[in-house]
Amino acid sequence: MRMVRLAGAVGLLALVAAGPARADGLREAVAAELPALVELYQDLHANPELSFQEFETAAKLAGRARALGFEVTEGVGRTGVVAVLRNGPGPTVMLRADMDGLPVIEQTGLPFASKRRAVPATGIETGVMHACGHDTHVAAWLGTAKLLAERRDQWSGTLVMILQPAEEIGEGAKAMLDDGLYTRFPKPDYVLAFHDAAQAPAGMIGYTKGFALANVDSVDVVVPGVGGHGAYPHTAKDPIVIAAHIVTRLQTLVSRELDPQEPAVVTVGSFQAGSKHNIIPDEARLQITVRSYADETRQHLLDGIARIARAEALAAGMPEDRLPRVTVQEPYTPATYNTPAFTDQVMALLKARFPDRVAETPSVMGGEDFSQYYRADREKVQSLIFWVGGVRAEQWEKAQKGEIELPSLHSPFWAPDAPVVIATATEALTAAALELMKKG
Ligand SMILES: [Zn+2]
Ligand SMILES: [Zn+2]
Repeated sequence: MRMVRLAGAVGLLALVAAGPARADGLREAVAAELPALVELYQDLHANPELSFQEFETAAKLAGRARALGFEVTEGVGRTGVVAVLRNGPGPTVMLRADMDGLPVIEQTGLPFASKRRAVPATGIETGVMHACGHDTHVAAWLGTAKLLAERRDQWSGTLVMILQPAEEIGEGAKAMLDDGLYTRFPKPDYVLAFHDAAQAPAGMIGYTKGFALANVDSVDVVVPGVGGHGAYPHTAKDPIVIAAHIVTRLQTLVSRELDPQEPAVVTVGSFQAGSKHNIIPDEARLQITVRSYADETRQHLLDGIARIARAEALAAGMPEDRLPRVTVQEPYTPATYNTPAFTDQVMALLKARFPDRVAETPSVMGGEDFSQYYRADREKVQSLIFWVGGVRAEQWEKAQKGEIELPSLHSPFWAPDAPVVIATATEALTAAALELMKKG
């Protein structure tokens, strides 16, 4: 997940570290646990693993959850972990952390910076880094598991805590669901998660009601032509010209065909064809990312790409049996929907607990496969993912003065203020779970 911008005032930063104490003692309990969680975070950060390669991370955390009294199942959706704590009648609450790193060579200069290397699906060895902050998610996950296990007498219900693989390639949530997450284990009434944010001060909480993140589709278009000599174009059919017309016409899908109030993006990110000045190639290839919120908008865009590709080839005189081939990659990442009533309920709680640190934020066109948990049963499941700002106070102040540019998520320089992110998220998730499963 990437690119979120929270509105936040510098004056709020002073509140982040301290904040008013509350009678439930949760903040103090988080503070007592924090050194161990930061130690875990630094260990995870130094040892990141790529999507579906999270073997060490999963094993480490599975052991810790077992020690806390959870029933733990490993290898769900390849490298995923499901930890269940049954504690009497009541709702089922599922908390999710994603645990994969990215093929990025770390340049933060942190003493615990990653030096790991691994081979992703491309087959080319690369550095690996927790450049999306999933290490903060895993640390807060364990903190929340511990606090809720210790407070068993304060809640009643079933707690399902999952560690999801392969968020960065959009496949992990689906892999866990396909492997029986909702059939082999208790199906949740509520699913909850957070993501660290690189455009908000540490400790700020941001949320969006309704659609928060977009449908993400990757589309490949292969455009056949008839190859030939560059000096004799009349003997060929030039696929570069056909593909160029397709690229231009695609710009009208959003600008001329959709309601201007409906968010959508069609970006051609790759256009490849040809080998030499004087050869007309026999093929061109386009790679397109397509973003939307509504299912109908998504379908309109995908149908439109196929229609335009076909029509432009026909316009160039290509025969029916040599028209462009359009492939939509599976699985796609569906739009993330924060169910409104549940979002209101949790945010009312967090606004009371973190005064002046909670803000509603605009939705973004990034993607997050957390969406799958809601989509798997829209009748039953209420879902919410919220942001926790991670920018260090001094960095934030400099950026506000225009002295520095902040790195985004996935940047080799992204170094969140992990103790503040972990403390805020642990307290927020624990408080929310206690509220949802409170006795009586
Ligand atoms: Zn990411
Ligand atoms: Zn992420």
